[in-house]
Amino acid sequence: MQLVTRSRDLRALIAGFRREGRRIGLVPTMGNLHAGHYSLLDLARAHADVVVASVFVNPTQFGPAEDLARYPRTPEADAKGLAAHDCDVLFLPPLDEIYPCGVTGSVRVSVPDLDGILEGALRPGHFDGVATVVAKLFNLAQPDIAVFGQKDYQQLLVIQRMALDLGFPVGIFAAPIVRETNGLAMSSRNQYLSAEQREQAGAIHATLQWMRDEAGDGRQSFAAIASTARGRLEHLGFVVDYAVIRRAGDL
Ligand code: AMP
Repeated sequence: MQLVTRSRDLRALIAGFRREGRRIGLVPTMGNLHAGHYSLLDLARAHADVVVASVFVNPTQFGPAEDLARYPRTPEADAKGLAAHDCDVLFLPPLDEIYPCGVTGSVRVSVPDLDGILEGALRPGHFDGVATVVAKLFNLAQPDIAVFGQKDYQQLLVIQRMALDLGFPVGIFAAPIVRETNGLAMSSRNQYLSAEQREQAGAIHATLQWMRDEAGDGRQSFAAIASTARGRLEHLGFVVDYAVIRRAGDL
């Protein structure tokens, strides 16, 4: 595996692969890698000849009160894990490679239809930050395909829409959610939970499955299902941001 920190070096490497006619697959991450991330690498490997993973904790997708400072950063372990998972190139850029003109005044990409609802409504600017960094990574790595997790479903739609609207010739692949045995989606942020909270968090997946089954059943309105789901979670002690049923294609 080759480790690259500068975009100039990444471009040179990619240009070489392209001359050889090899298909490039990109897996963007914020690091602190786990089995969920590695499943994205496997999917990239199945559709590309060269797999490039990026590890970059992107400041523009964090709100002012969010966890940018304490977000877990484990670059050495990530590099080892990526090498063991057959990754060809690790792109580990410093901040000024991604934001050469500074973070605050940087050019932004936004996806207006999708960024003001659900997660976007709770985290203003989050999806602008995501769309911006992914657009930059697409320009730098020039992938043929890129893989994103269904865990961040709204993010996946934002990226599909961004790629379509800006004309990026990149096939977007969606990887299924990798879960803990109790159903909790694997996430770097699960480290913020106590052992007991991690156990309790399995109730989120159980509730979502119940919602899906009820919605398929057709006996209750979506609003009634959502309201019962919210009540169940609140009864278990959760503070619920949203529990809703939406159309998969555009939310
Ligand atoms: P992150 O490092 O959290 O920004 O995630 C990088 C990519 O990995 C995103 O496309 C996520 O959706 C994906 N991902 C993270 N956790 C999982 C998981 N448990 N299952 C599937 N994909 C995941």
